[in-house]
Amino acid sequence: MATIIEKIGSLASEEPFFSFEFFPPKTDSGVQNLIPRLRRMTKLNPLFINITWGAGGSTATKSLEIAKLCTEELGITVCLHLTCTNMEKRVIDEALANAKKYSIRNILALRGDSPRGEEYWTPPESQEFKYAVDLVKYIREQYGDYFCIGVAAYPEGYADGSSPEEQDPLLDLPYLVEKTKAGANFIMTQLFFDVDKFVAFEKMLNEHESGVFNGIPLIPGLLPISTYQSFIRTAKLSHANIPEDVMDKLNAVPNADDEQVKQVGVQVLVNMINDIYTRTSHRVRGFHFYTLNLERSTGLILEKSPILRPRAHGSTYVPQPVAVKEPVSIESALAAGVSGVKLDDSISAHWDDFPNGRWGDPRSPAYGEIDGYGVTLHATPDKALKLWGSPETSSDISDLFVKYLTGELPVLPWAEEEGLSAETKLIEDDLIKLNKLGLWTVASQPAINSVKSDDPVFGWGPHNGYVFQKALVEFFVPEQKFFSLKDKLQGNESISYYAGNASGDFFSNMSASDVNAITWGVFPNREVVQPTIIEEQSFRAWMDDAFEIWKEWQRLYSPSTKTYELMGNIHDSYFLVSIVHHDYVNGKALWELLHE
Ligand code: FAD
Repeated sequence: MATIIEKIGSLASEEPFFSFEFFPPKTDSGVQNLIPRLRRMTKLNPLFINITWGAGGSTATKSLEIAKLCTEELGITVCLHLTCTNMEKRVIDEALANAKKYSIRNILALRGDSPRGEEYWTPPESQEFKYAVDLVKYIREQYGDYFCIGVAAYPEGYADGSSPEEQDPLLDLPYLVEKTKAGANFIMTQLFFDVDKFVAFEKMLNEHESGVFNGIPLIPGLLPISTYQSFIRTAKLSHANIPEDVMDKLNAVPNADDEQVKQVGVQVLVNMINDIYTRTSHRVRGFHFYTLNLERSTGLILEKSPILRPRAHGSTYVPQPVAVKEPVSIESALAAGVSGVKLDDSISAHWDDFPNGRWGDPRSPAYGEIDGYGVTLHATPDKALKLWGSPETSSDISDLFVKYLTGELPVLPWAEEEGLSAETKLIEDDLIKLNKLGLWTVASQPAINSVKSDDPVFGWGPHNGYVFQKALVEFFVPEQKFFSLKDKLQGNESISYYAGNASGDFFSNMSASDVNAITWGVFPNREVVQPTIIEEQSFRAWMDDAFEIWKEWQRLYSPSTKTYELMGNIHDSYFLVSIVHHDYVNGKALWELLHE
């Protein structure tokens, strides 16, 4: 297999190219469904594809298996991501040895989560890896020039819990120089929407006095926009600035209609690609798509991009002046597919149209964490200690959960985003009551019975529809309390529940094949859509992560502390319980039942 640098070298001098990123799906059925998607998408002619690596090695086996499949069966050049912090050195050694065994020639060398740093947190032999540069050096020491190594860069400055004002690419520059000098062959960026910032960043590297970046490809990371919700969420998580004109375009979509958001999003990305290619005088000619394991938006961008379309169509590249062509209609692009590759038009295409992530269909390849990088506290160790202190009793933990709900704490280890969503605010008092009783809620939604699809709080999907929700709550609870609650839940036909603990005990009043739609919508000219479901497979997958977060939190403390002991006890003895109430007409039903 060729390296990425060899492949770029084989292109004509200004020929554009693109690459796709996929993450290992959370569930086995997600993996199975990713494979046909990979087959279709490799026919779009990406120069290479990236497979992500769960922080701390959490997806090591799956990442390697998918990378192997892509190399050996699909014959596509793979770039395997590899992080180096908070995991045993043995895992790095095995990953590199296996990558070589499977003829993988490209590694994106990353740091991963912030190193925990003190002796009792990290295995001593792993402490040589504090930053990505340490991994770059290690790979070069161990493997010479066998691997082509990529490193990450941040056009808007690296954000590690810092405020936007503290983000500054200049601060990271010396370390990017260091990583490049240590042997990086190409640079791939964090996703962004602000082309001005990227262009300024490219200029900064291009003009760097050391000349270290000369001839090093800089590949911008682009996020196709699939739905309004996921766009805002991902941009926020990545600390990406959304320029006013982009925001205005998306906000101009009547009622945030997701179908139209996708169309506008395609045009936004097409314009970004044009802008980058033109304004960097074609020095930047490779574009990396964070696909989030979805194919539709990426396919449409390729179809509409005058710069990338020739490659997606497999035609021989002929340099030509860049002009934004009249956009082809979405309908015709969908009907034609790209270069004869029909995009997925089966039922699974729904996965691309509506929110995925944790509450999506676990059979979707896109099911799981939004970036697929695995369990994290959503805060650096320093920030985590500052925010959550050192709780010593379960009532200290109850206080933290209540403080999150009242807005005194911006985040909790299980809460990806800062602050409560507008819909959670509506059940805030009910949740506070439960948390004060020691039922620590990590997810919830109120019931709604037929609300317009353009409702500012609950709305989603196309215009002129109606959406519905069943009330749901998920919480940690001590074993004893769970068993007394279980007696009430088991015989109640109005509710469905799942409960499990870290030792593998599992209870439910449903059979393994039962599925509950907890959000659904009825729209003109299509079948009922149910983007959010809960079933045993997804609950079990999430439960593993939810308990792992206790371990992750525990690792911040010395084993000799009360906090460490408390976290360990909670991890070992609590249950995670998920309850859906079927009476979505009576919005209070679930909360009344629990307050009893
Ligand atoms: P580094 O280059 O080590 O930099 C991290 C921070 O430390 C920066 O602020 C830098 O300025 C600073 N720094 C670097 N060196 C030094 C030094 N010697 N002294 C002091 N400060 C220093 N995460 C995953 O878990 N899995 C993935 O698959 C994954 N894929 C990614 C792909 C891309 C393209 C990008 C942009 C990120 C990805 N990440 C992934 C996230 C990444 O692991 C995190 O952003 C991580 O926190 C930083 O990684 P890095 O390689 O940029 O770190």
